[in-house]
Amino acid sequence: AFEYAPAPESRDIVDIRPSYGLFVGGEFTGGRGEPFKSVNPANEETLAEIARADAADVDRAVAAARAAYDRVWGPMPGRERAKYLYRIARLVQERARELAVLESIDNGKPIRESRDVDVPLVAAHFFYHAGWADKLPYAGFGPDPRPVGVAGQVIPWNFPLLMLAWKIAPALACGNTVVLKPAETTPLTALAFAEICQQADLPPGVVNIVTGAGETGRALVEHDGVDKVAFTGSTEVGKLIARAAAGTRKRLTLELGGKAANVVFDDAPLDQAVEGVVNGIFFNQGHVCCAGSRLLVQESVADALLERLKARMATLRVGDPLDKNTDVGAINSAAQLDKIRMLSEAGEAEGAGRWSPPCELPQRGFWFAPTLFTGVAQSHRIAREEIFGPVLSVLTFRTPAEAVEKANNTPYGLSAGVWTEKGSRVLWMAERLRAGVVWANTFNKFDPASPFGGYKESGFGREGGRHGLEAYLNV
Ligand code: NAD
Repeated sequence: AFEYAPAPESRDIVDIRPSYGLFVGGEFTGGRGEPFKSVNPANEETLAEIARADAADVDRAVAAARAAYDRVWGPMPGRERAKYLYRIARLVQERARELAVLESIDNGKPIRESRDVDVPLVAAHFFYHAGWADKLPYAGFGPDPRPVGVAGQVIPWNFPLLMLAWKIAPALACGNTVVLKPAETTPLTALAFAEICQQADLPPGVVNIVTGAGETGRALVEHDGVDKVAFTGSTEVGKLIARAAAGTRKRLTLELGGKAANVVFDDAPLDQAVEGVVNGIFFNQGHVCCAGSRLLVQESVADALLERLKARMATLRVGDPLDKNTDVGAINSAAQLDKIRMLSEAGEAEGAGRWSPPCELPQRGFWFAPTLFTGVAQSHRIAREEIFGPVLSVLTFRTPAEAVEKANNTPYGLSAGVWTEKGSRVLWMAERLRAGVVWANTFNKFDPASPFGGYKESGFGREGGRHGLEAYLNV
């Protein structure tokens, strides 16, 4: 439903500068840490040198956010804040081509996805939250809901600009100011977003972007001047952050890992289910927190489904992220590729059957062929641990009760999928699956009006919808 620009033909649409600074108090500035490089994962070429914020830089950014909060943004009426959010949303649409190309170059994701999914959803998030800014007093939050203050936000590399939008749009709509740290392998679209803030005449200090690795993130989330921490990333780092926040007054929301089950019953339309399974695990190279990384298929249709699934996987085109026909792009980093390889080798060593369609991978860059494991037991690492890559583990079940038991047999609980013709079975399953999102006869569908978040080790708090605003308001 959202408009997007036509497909970019080449990277000439974007003008990547040799180096980028931090965005603090409305201006680009240097960082005091050792600069680092952002690399194109499809060919390992350096894209740009990026400033690294140390603790003193983070301190400057938090001070800028505090000043903007106290003097301008906190006291501003909601209808005025809304104007800025609408302006940002429109600028994202205007610069959609450039943002999509930049995202695909920096992250490795296919241009078709950054163009048709990531960037339109980013604009949609700003439009949606612009609509909230002047309606907060009438939405059950009490007559005069107040912002929390300065938000420190840390995001991962899998949807760099979209995760930024999930964080910044609700915070701003509610009257908070932010300091955001993008992931070290994908800082470029966050810095392009900083330019959009300038273009939108957003008051200086309302949005600040500090680039760097884990140390920079740590300095931010542990900073005394931060009132609210919002983190999306691994469960491991989420726990570190929760521990550090425990001794403080900070509010915290965590969006962490997942190991979603995609459950296919014997009455499901199989071709449609195959599309859903493929989309569930190969969308964005499987670098998706809610990826359907475990296929649970009812035994009586397992052979038929697997045959069609393999045939469909054989049609996937792996390669150049900027080619409009690419289905599966590059793995985001050498470290992530190592992790995917390591867990896939563990799958073989533990006795699961490994299969990939014949596919020629480019010589340079970070690549991994779409991979299927059959004969997977619940005890196998590939059934338990988040791989965060294009690797699907197949398990079978006989009864709905067994499907529920297996689907819930994970420390995570972010999402699940159910494929069946029976509406009553969808509801029966949805009631029992311990997951923040349950999709029925579809997968990986997102909407800014729909709250998203986890059970168990997938974290707590919700992003999106009315519920997502609660994290950024004092009611
Ligand atoms: P990560 O935890 O390694 O890093 C996430 C971010 O945290 C990065 O910006 C990183 O620099 C920063 N960081 C690292 N150490 C830190 C520390 N000690 N203190 C503060 N910040 C620190 O995760 P990743 O590899 O970038 O992302 C992949 C993970 O993110 C996966 O587990 C995935 O499931 C999860 N994820 C979850 C959601 C969700 O909504 N639940 C969405 C996307 C990704």
